[in-house]
This record gives sequence, C-alpha cells and structure tokens, in this order.
Amino acid sequence: MPASRPNRVVIIGGGVIGTACAHFLRQSGVEVTVIDQGRHGGGCSHANCGLISPSHIFPLCRPGALAEGFRALVSSNSSIKIRPRLDRHLWSWLYRFAAQCTHEKMIANGWARHALLQSSRKLYAELIETARLECDWEERGCLFVFRSEAGFHHYGKLNALMKETYGLFADPVVGEELFKLEPALIPGSAYGAWYFPMDAHMRASRLLASWRKYLEAEGVNFVENATFEQFEGTSTARVARTSRGVFEGDAFVVATGAWTPLLHRQLELRVPIQPGKGYSITMSRPAVCPTIPMILEEDHVAVTPMQSGYRLGSTMEFAGYDTTLNPKRLNLLHDGAVRSLREPFGPTVEEEWWGWRPMTFDGRPIIDRTPRFDNVMIAAGHNMLGLSMAPATGRLVAELLMGQQPHILADAYRYPRVPVDFSRMPATGTAEGKPAGSVVTASTE
Ligand SMILES: Cc1cc2nc3c(=O)[nH]c(=O)nc-3n(C[C@H](O)[C@H](O)[C@H](O)COP(=O)(O)OP(=O)(O)OC[C@H]3O[C@@H](n4cnc5c(N)ncnc54)[C@H](O)[C@@H]3O)c2cc1C
Repeated sequence: MPASRPNRVVIIGGGVIGTACAHFLRQSGVEVTVIDQGRHGGGCSHANCGLISPSHIFPLCRPGALAEGFRALVSSNSSIKIRPRLDRHLWSWLYRFAAQCTHEKMIANGWARHALLQSSRKLYAELIETARLECDWEERGCLFVFRSEAGFHHYGKLNALMKETYGLFADPVVGEELFKLEPALIPGSAYGAWYFPMDAHMRASRLLASWRKYLEAEGVNFVENATFEQFEGTSTARVARTSRGVFEGDAFVVATGAWTPLLHRQLELRVPIQPGKGYSITMSRPAVCPTIPMILEEDHVAVTPMQSGYRLGSTMEFAGYDTTLNPKRLNLLHDGAVRSLREPFGPTVEEEWWGWRPMTFDGRPIIDRTPRFDNVMIAAGHNMLGLSMAPATGRLVAELLMGQQPHILADAYRYPRVPVDFSRMPATGTAEGKPAGSVVTASTE
C-alpha cells in the first residue's frame, strides 16, 4: 500500500462487510463514503439467518464433501445443488474446492476462519454496547440438531477435533434433555443436539439500518443507486467512476460480495468467488417459537427466532447469477421445519427472499490489495459467514490501510493465497496459543 495514510476512503458495496469497513475507518479518523448499486444492505446481508457463529470453524471443503457434491449434481431435491452448465469459472472453482477437501487443509482453513470469527464475536459485543446498535441481538447459543444417532455421533468426532485443535467445542444434549431445553421441537423428533453456548443471533436488516444511522451521525456518507464502473489513475487509483458521478479518494475498498468477480476487468484480477444462492422465509413469530436458534442438520435448515420475527433459511444453489425465487428451494425449508418443529410456521409471511453468498473455494475470505492499484483493497468472499466475520474484517481492512499492526494474521486472507504459519494464531480457551499437536503450516492450493 502507499506509505501515506489515506484521509478519504471510498467503499464500493454497502453490505455488512462494506459497513464494517466504514465503521473502523471512520474510527481511525478517515473521511468515508459508501456507495452501492442498489439499496444499502439490500444484497446478501439483508435477510440471512442472522447467526453469529464462532462455531462454524470448519469450511464446506472438508473430507467427505466431494461425495455430497456428487449427490448434489445428480439429485433434484438436495439442499446443496449445482446447476451443471458450461462455465469454465465454475468448473475451475469446483476443481480448486475439491483440492481443499483434505484433513490438513480443512484444519488450516479452519484457523483462518476461527481468527475472524473469534475476533468478530468479541467486537460485536463491544459494538452493540458502544454504538447502541438495535438489531434484536441475543446471546442464546445455537443448537446443531440431529434426527439420527449416526449423524449426532459423526458430528461428535468433528466436535472433538475442534476442541483438540482450536479449544472450542459444543456440549451434547441428548433425548429428553433436548426437548426440555427446546420445547419447540417435536418430542422424539431428534436423537440429540450439540449446543454451542458462545453463538449469538440478530436480525441482519435491523443491524444494517441501525449501523448506517450511527455512522451517518459520525459523518459517513452513504450513496445509493450508484453503480461502480471504473477506477481512474495509473498505479494509484484517484477516482471511482460510477453511474452517479465520480468519487475521489486516497484509497478504495471493494466490498461487493458475490458480484466481485464481475469487476475483473476493473481490478485486473478475477477473484475465485461463485454466487452460492440461499433462501429464507421471514414470518411473524409462531405461538410455540423456539427460544434457541438451531440448525436442523440433516435438512440443512437454520431456524432463527428473532425478537421481531421468525426465520427459516439456508440451502445452497450454484446456479450462477440467477435471480429467480425458486419455490422448490423454499419448499425444502418448509419440509425441514415440519419434520422437527411443533409449530414450524408463523401466522404471517413477511418476506420470501434469496441472496448470493460470496463463496470462495477454500472457505476463507479475500482481504488484500489488488495487483493493479496499490491503494485498492478487496474485502469479499465471506462465504456463509459474512455477518459473523464482518467486524474483524472491517478492523483488519482499517489496520492495513492505516499502516497499523493487524490484530489478526493478515496473510491468511491474501489472494493469490500464500503459505501461512497458523501456529501464530491463538486458540480459544487456551491461555497461551494452541494445544500441542495442532501447529499447521498451510500451503496454498
Ligand atoms: C440464506 C442465507 C443465510 C445466511 N445466513 C448467515 C448467517 O446466519 N450468518 C452469517 O454470518 N452469514 C450468513 N449468510 C452469509 C452472509 O449473508 C454473507 O456472507 C454476507 O451478507 C456477505 O456480505 P457482503 O457485504 O460481502 O455482501 P453483500 O451483502 O451482498 O453486499 C455487497 C454489496 O455490493 C453491492 N455492489 C455489487 N456490485 C456493485 C457495483 N458494481 N457498484 C456498487 N455496488 C455494488 C451490492 O449491491 C451489495 O449491496 C447467509 C447467506 C444466505 C444467502
């Protein structure tokens, strides 16, 4: 990055990542403008499941994922779906995803995710308090519910690995104990669950609205309906040209989520992100509403009881930049909820929604400057965890742009990927670093 600290930063993309970057840059005394092609918070950050999930350390690319991927190719009603098509970027992405499905790489990618997740969880608690963000924030943990005994024990092995490696783990809740803990579940519908007490939840759209209000009061400028078109400058960008005029800056952040690969000409870099389409249904709260958020694991349905509503969400569809609301995908959410919940639906449907998750092949986001411009930084590719990773991403981006010591290991998110010594990352629950045996020096792809 250029040696001088920027006085003015333009952020392209007003999702949760762009907003978090705006927060920490403003805190560093920078003049900030956030521009979005549509509404602020109208992209993938709008109606996601709202889970803040330090529990989600392991990425999708893990041993066994390839078999599931194959089932996804041949099955029409799998919760993960790949629409086969002639798209060399999709096939290249899948190939690189497949190469990440080893034990060693799962652990390494897990370290990179763990650092952002842990830091963000702490930062959220501070932010909610200091910025008084109104977003239905609750710290009730999360239940990973298994209908089958085999599924429950299979996850138990991952839980043991997580405990041994990162020092973070869930508690088992089996049989009657589970139905006492969460009476909204149909008695006898599940063998057991794994309970992660440190997870939290919120309503993402409320977070975005409240955060914007706070930042506007702090002097951040938000511009909507301004589509970024081009940077102007030689090796240093000076101006972002948009459909609503030009925005000058000393530095720029590209936080355009799943849209980022579409900017490959402007960035002279094609980031390996595929849109992973997910769905949600938001309703008013049912009379028998769950008290703890849960993931119905076999059905891949997340259930989020919010103070101001109730949401079923998830499913993953690799269908390119497809903008249709597919009723079959919504039915999968219905069916999963019916199998497990006493009152699966609230009386009023408020919104049926889809969003494009920015999926990288290794489950790590990309937080790095572009090779083309020395003052343009990408912060995108947060997969299924953008809400959970936003504050630490924003803080890291501000640290990198301001030339400060990063609070987490920035190399873990560089692109192209570089070898990273994850032994420098601290584990949760251990006073000094990680438990013995878990030092992993991850290579790249
Ligand atoms: C069903 C579902 C459930 C999910 N549940 C969770 C969850 O429980 N917890 C969690 O942590 N994560 C969850 N996620 C993932 C999370 O929503 C995403 O990782 C996150 O929203 C990504 O944020 P972002 O800011 O990178 O992208 P976005 O929110 O998509 O923001 C990108 C913005 O860039 C703008 N943009 C794009 N191109 C341009 C351009 N050329 N010019 C100007 N603006 C542009 C877009 O309009 C958009 O507003 C879920 C996702 C889905 C789909």
